[in-house]
Amino acid sequence: MSTLRFHAIKESSKRKPIIIKDEKRRSEIFGQNVFNEAAMRQYLTKTALTSILEAVEKGTKINRLIADHISTGMKEWAISKGATHYTHWFQPLTGATAEKHDAFFETIGDGLAIEKFGGNQLVQQEPDASSFPHGGIRNTFEARGYTAWDPTSPAFIYGTTLCIPTVFVSYTGEALDYKTPLLRALQAVDNAAVAVCKYFDKNVKKVNASLGWEQEYFLIDSDLAASRPDIVLTGRTLLGHSPAKGQQLDDHYFGTIPNRAMAYMRDLENECMLLGIPVKTRHNEVAPNQFELAPIYEEANLAVDHNSLLMDIMQKIAKRHNFKVLMHEKPFAGVNGSGKHNNWSLSTNTGVNLLSPGKTPMSNLQFLTFFINTIKAVQTHEELLRAAIASASNDHRLGANEAPPAIISVFIGEQLTKVLDELETVTKGKLSPKEKTDLKLNVVGKIPEVILDNTDRNRTSPFAFTGNKFEFRAVGSKANCANPMTVLNTIVAKQLIDFKHEVDELIDKKSMKKDDAVFNVLREYIKTSKAILFEGNGYSDAWEKEAKKRGLSNNKTTPEALKIKVAKSSIALFENLGVMNNVESEARYEIEMEEYILHIQIESRVLGDIARNHIVPTAVRYQNILIENVTGLKTIYGDKFKNFAKEQLSLIEQISHHIEAINSLVTKMTDARKSLNKQSDIEKKAHGYCNKVKPLFEDIRYHSDKLELMIDDELWPLTKYRELLFTK
Ligand code: ADP
Ligand code: MG
Repeated sequence: MSTLRFHAIKESSKRKPIIIKDEKRRSEIFGQNVFNEAAMRQYLTKTALTSILEAVEKGTKINRLIADHISTGMKEWAISKGATHYTHWFQPLTGATAEKHDAFFETIGDGLAIEKFGGNQLVQQEPDASSFPHGGIRNTFEARGYTAWDPTSPAFIYGTTLCIPTVFVSYTGEALDYKTPLLRALQAVDNAAVAVCKYFDKNVKKVNASLGWEQEYFLIDSDLAASRPDIVLTGRTLLGHSPAKGQQLDDHYFGTIPNRAMAYMRDLENECMLLGIPVKTRHNEVAPNQFELAPIYEEANLAVDHNSLLMDIMQKIAKRHNFKVLMHEKPFAGVNGSGKHNNWSLSTNTGVNLLSPGKTPMSNLQFLTFFINTIKAVQTHEELLRAAIASASNDHRLGANEAPPAIISVFIGEQLTKVLDELETVTKGKLSPKEKTDLKLNVVGKIPEVILDNTDRNRTSPFAFTGNKFEFRAVGSKANCANPMTVLNTIVAKQLIDFKHEVDELIDKKSMKKDDAVFNVLREYIKTSKAILFEGNGYSDAWEKEAKKRGLSNNKTTPEALKIKVAKSSIALFENLGVMNNVESEARYEIEMEEYILHIQIESRVLGDIARNHIVPTAVRYQNILIENVTGLKTIYGDKFKNFAKEQLSLIEQISHHIEAINSLVTKMTDARKSLNKQSDIEKKAHGYCNKVKPLFEDIRYHSDKLELMIDDELWPLTKYRELLFTK
């Protein structure tokens, strides 16, 4: 057996759970390493505290003088917790988080030193930004980007470093990160939703988007993972025959969590508690060694930061437990992939969840308004939502086992479908008093049942209403939630603005009463949004055909899906709402296309290497053993040897056939890459990688997986699926 595989299996079989003592109660340690309100009260002057709280609640600016007070307080707090360094923490478009640590320590001459951290250092920094993706925004001679403090997400300590959440923008003000457009989109939806809320309640001053993500992941023994060059370099397996036992038995889902994984989770949850990430649920997922972690939902910006932070610390803590976390959307072919459901809602400063069906007719009308407007927004901009979740890795997951397809649709359940049907059939124009009463009664009567009946586990729906929130399920496990959240909040903001405009027009020009006007516009929306509503099986071919008839997009690959981002209408949408200007939209498109190309390119190289340098030589070795055997038989039996060597001869032939196929496919793939690398048009290049290089992966894999079934297990160089997936 290959030494690497042999060693890995031996090491992994010896592992014991590493128990980290967590004697303290969760509630006691929650937020201990966060510069939260309690810490601020202790370390800040009253003016400084008020200034931060106002910045969070109203988005007001913090002046430089006060920033000095804040930085001093923050530093004192951090040092009291053992911090020695600080960093501006940000989320560049690489998908990872970035930080550059500076010590508080400064010399002041005469051999003396102090701990220093001024307002200037808190508010703004200039990391050497030229190596982060920028899509041509910064050309080299003005390769300056700066990070700026985001007071709406609290500073925290990780290890011995004070981390300050920041945005990352170019010298000319364009966003170079995920957070900046998100903050702008949240502002846009806040403004638009507050304006609509005023129809129902004049006291609403602020609407927050909330996000509750559910992070799925695989935990693989670190030695086993390290023995697979494909996992090490691409985060997924490029080869490997499915094990005799897969997930068919469904015995992993919600089963008891294995001890080693449990120890890891407890350790991880402790760390989350200290960092103020309110994790609440954990369970096994459908596939073997697949798990999920979900927090209590939070304001969207904070939730996004917390998810990025979580993905970081998951890897760090996994090292302590000899695990590798696979965040990839499809680490194993034929096995369930990983997603990151984004539960989303809107709630007011008066404490109302706008997507929760209320108890009184008035609050139901408000609920219906936000519910129907969201559906309409998805209907109008389904292609943008698809683009928001597009990535090379998510392409493997969409439409495969238990994952939503690439067609965006909305699931609302039977009860709400009925409510919408009834609302639609109310006669045109003004509502008669009877109709109004009927409708209200119906709506009131129906909605509580929705909650009871909400047992939908139709996992095929990419966007489902689940009682008091929408669940965007197509988001990939590896993704930064900021991107889908930016798009969702922007399209809903745009929709609410249009809605308000239409309602106001009916009130002003047709002298309609407010309720009637709202009903009328909503009824039109129900009619025009029908195409997006789908309750059936999203996996079926029938749905694909039906969706096409309905005019819904079905962009199966990332290069196809991303195109809509640079359509004139999309650029105008983001520009008009102040979320991204045209330079930012175009830059992002370019970055994502480039990332796609790189991704496929790396996978292709790795696959070529493994196939040629690991698989083919192993096949040759085994074939030689067979040949030796056949020659031996010939020596013993002479001309009659064939009677005893049928199987062997057939295997020898088959092996030759697979070796030949692999070699010629790898050559074909390498040639395709070479010619595409000369291509300067980024779209042609991305489509080429998608349609000429990527399809060869499957073909190469086919032959390698066949060989895996033929060749002596002792010789096989790669750790097998059953070893990766069933080692606990
Ligand atoms: P699952 O989809 O796994 O069955 P649930 O439907 O119970 O789980 O969804 C739980 C997730 O929904 C949690 O992460 C929770 O924080 C989130 N959630 C609940 N209410 C809201 C809300 N109003 N806004 C955003 N997320 C929410
Ligand atoms: Mg869910």
